[in-house]
Amino acid sequence: MELWFTEHQTKHLGLTVRVKETLYMGKSDFQDVAVVDTYEFGRMLVLDGVFQTSVYDEFIYHEMIAHVPLFTHPNPKRVLVIGGGDGGTVREVLKHPTVERVEMVEIDGLVVEVSKKFLPEISEALISKPAQLELKIDDGIRHMAKAQDLYDVIIVDCSDPIGPGEGLFTPAFYRDVHKALKADGLFVQQTESPFYHQALIKDLRKDIEALFPITKTYLAHIPLYPGGAHCFTVGSKQYDPANSANRRGADLKTRYYNPELHSSCFVLPNFVKDILK
Ligand code: SAM
Repeated sequence: MELWFTEHQTKHLGLTVRVKETLYMGKSDFQDVAVVDTYEFGRMLVLDGVFQTSVYDEFIYHEMIAHVPLFTHPNPKRVLVIGGGDGGTVREVLKHPTVERVEMVEIDGLVVEVSKKFLPEISEALISKPAQLELKIDDGIRHMAKAQDLYDVIIVDCSDPIGPGEGLFTPAFYRDVHKALKADGLFVQQTESPFYHQALIKDLRKDIEALFPITKTYLAHIPLYPGGAHCFTVGSKQYDPANSANRRGADLKTRYYNPELHSSCFVLPNFVKDILK
């Protein structure tokens, strides 16, 4: 029998994949957690029915959420990742030799354990546990409220703004992010689809602009996510990510990111510029 799984991306749109095998299904205190092996995307992590990452295309999201902010900062030493339970973002952060310490604060320990077991290519840093990495199972909102003047770069690798991720898209959280960053720090957050989450993108951009002198949005092409185009938003106290012409990235082993793409990902189509006006 053929088995198909649909993620309902909007009320009226779904992405359906043919499943080879269901590898895991469970429930944590926060969400339903599943791993399925699929024909087109390979193994995929699914939380509350929403596709989070796949072995096939994860490199795009994880390289773009990590290397754009890390190559914008001239000397990132201390980095905080909120969420990112599959481990792909910290794997990329740890490619930067300047990084002395990376804290990862993920609310759901089950996501970490399941990723280590079924997605080892993505979670390799969580398995090998390099000395620079400190993993905390905690609410990122609570962690941020306590932090002050600590981080060079903060990466908010969160799920959608529902369930445990809801509070990561609020003005109060952005105020805490601003406070947690050093005087020249910057942060990036995954901010959903420019096709299907326009009101959210508009509102959070306004909230971030109210706090940070430099606010920029960039795009990457990610087949797994709604519409295939995905938005990231940067708030920066000093360095402009769109003008960071940083050649350090040329030496890094990546499959999507490169220094030319770093500059060009900030060139936005008119319909996205209109959302941000
Ligand atoms: N690449 C993904 C995407 O855009 O769909 C995000 C993947 S990562 C798995 C998202 C993680 O954020 C999940 O593991 C979830 O448990 C975590 N998360 C959600 N809310 C959180 C919070 N308040 N604090 C820390 N982690 C949180």
